[in-house]
Amino acid sequence: MSARILDGRTLAAAVRASVKETVARLAVRGVRPGLAVILAGDDPASRAYVRNKSRACEETGVHSVQFEYESSVRQDELLDRVAALNEDPAVHGILVQLPLPKQIDSGKILEAVSPAKDVDGFHPANLGALVSGRPRVVPCTPAAVMRLLEQAGVPLAGRSAVVIGRSSIVGKPLALLLLQKNATVTICHSKSQNIERVTKEADILIAAAGRAKLVGAAMVKPGACVVDVGISRLADGSLAGDVDFDAVKEIAGWITPVPGGVGPMTIAMLLENCVKAASS
Ligand code: NAD
Repeated sequence: MSARILDGRTLAAAVRASVKETVARLAVRGVRPGLAVILAGDDPASRAYVRNKSRACEETGVHSVQFEYESSVRQDELLDRVAALNEDPAVHGILVQLPLPKQIDSGKILEAVSPAKDVDGFHPANLGALVSGRPRVVPCTPAAVMRLLEQAGVPLAGRSAVVIGRSSIVGKPLALLLLQKNATVTICHSKSQNIERVTKEADILIAAAGRAKLVGAAMVKPGACVVDVGISRLADGSLAGDVDFDAVKEIAGWITPVPGGVGPMTIAMLLENCVKAASS
């Protein structure tokens, strides 16, 4: 039997509609949510994300401004920009598009963003709040995965959840969110051995490694919920997730497509975080 598809495009459209309503309510109070995006360098994937984000802002009525820099940008230029945006009352959310050029200490830039305007949830204060079980701003991609699971009614409490990937922006925060929902969580990473032994036990399997088609059918428990966060560009220019979709959909109970799964929901969660910041 083929898996049920967790359709991120449809759910993201519903979230955007609700964001649009909130934006209209805030307009009555004279508030227009504003998102500032800092983009440095010419990474094509980053440029594509930023384009999609500004299109979503336009659709929902969120004001967006973009600050672009050459890949030779200096750290103090970015810090000065962040400091100015922290003080700007028209800006409620600041997004620093990663990765930054290699001469920049990304951690320093992310720490400079005011936690109240950190709509990506990457500031140590917001990550710390997540660790302590009292989340404030939740990072967008992990929030997107949780919303997809919730919407589909996938049971989490007491179930085995395996996350492949341990980055601070996806894998680790996601593991914490699953733990908060009382799942039994295991994290696999590039140094883990025999990961298929672990993944085969997973009721919920989240792939966030950035390795095209890493997860095949033999790694999946029949009926499991498989969420694919990965995005890789193949040699022929097409996009691929971390999951071999065609093979895994025959064994999984639920599955997200790439594209059209986690990606659109990540942007929807960013908009939600931004209007929340403007509402408070
Ligand atoms: P990252 O490179 O920072 O982290 C990748 C993680 O995967 C690391 O912890 C590494 O240990 C682990 N890993 C790598 N190869 C592995 C292997 N063979 N087996 C087990 N673990 C392995 O990446 P990231 O920023 O966490 O992003 C992960 C993927 O998700 C990327 O493809 C990225 O493009 C994608 N992504 C998608 C969205 C979205 O909106 N859909 C958002 C953010 C990231």
